Amino acid sequence: MPDAAAPQPAALPPVDRSIADLRIRVAGWRSEGRSVSLVPTMGALHAGHVELVRAAAADGARVVVSIFVNPTQFAPTEDFSAYPRNEERDLAALSGIADAVFAPTVGEMYPPGFATTVSLAGPALGLETEFRPNHFAGVATVVAKLLLAALPDRALFGEKDYQQLLVVRRMVRDLAIPVDIVGVPTIREADGLALSSRNAYLSPEERQVAPELHRALVIAAAAIRAGGLAVTALAEARQTLNDRGFDVDYVELRDAGSLGEVTDRAAPLRLLAAARLGRTRLIDNIPV
Ligand code: AMP
Repeated sequence: MPDAAAPQPAALPPVDRSIADLRIRVAGWRSEGRSVSLVPTMGALHAGHVELVRAAAADGARVVVSIFVNPTQFAPTEDFSAYPRNEERDLAALSGIADAVFAPTVGEMYPPGFATTVSLAGPALGLETEFRPNHFAGVATVVAKLLLAALPDRALFGEKDYQQLLVVRRMVRDLAIPVDIVGVPTIREADGLALSSRNAYLSPEERQVAPELHRALVIAAAAIRAGGLAVTALAEARQTLNDRGFDVDYVELRDAGSLGEVTDRAAPLRLLAAARLGRTRLIDNIPV
């Protein structure tokens, strides 16, 4: 006989594969008077994603997590086919914390003849775009489609992808999409490395070196805060990273609100970096 008092494992969240099914589910929640939060992800979930999902549920909202490895945000040279996928594990990670998962096929999100893309400027200019020119157009287009599919009250994004967060914020403002965009601080390993699905690509030796990216940002931010010249602090960070074996794409200081060049050192600033370690591209950022 099963022990009736034993705690039962939380059930896996139900999965919708089509926009139509997701809309029926969300309409049911709406008819119960519940608010709705959306957490867009590409799966391979880790504690950073879980933090977003927990924050999404904070005020009693129903939470839908989307899992979709979006082909249009990868360049042909990037890791779209190698990107880690494990739906079973992801659903287990979401049991008890998400109310539903939206895991559409590529065909559902990009039906034959798909010809529409969100065109971006403002915070999408520079930084990542210099190295991944079509990345944010792919992100913004799929996020717009996910928002229109779920029509949530709130959607949550990690500060880990700070430029993405600002691009999405700008887009919903510009297109008057009625959703609050909520940013969630970066979850890190004990040694400072920002959690990322791509950390799985790191060799044991690279994993030892990877936290140097965050460390270099912390040191540069401290120097800038202490009144040091930003150009010097940034050059030192790049040099340190090169010396440690990184191939640096950028280390930049930007206005935290617009990601434009710094014109007012008293305004909130953000240090952002991207660097490759072997075949793994790492990004990180911190406030100054
Ligand atoms: P991804 O699956 O990489 O597209 O990420 C899905 C969402 O989780 C994005 O909003 C990311 O910014 C966020 N995210 C990824 N890693 C972290 C992290 N370490 N801390 C907080 N949020 C994160």
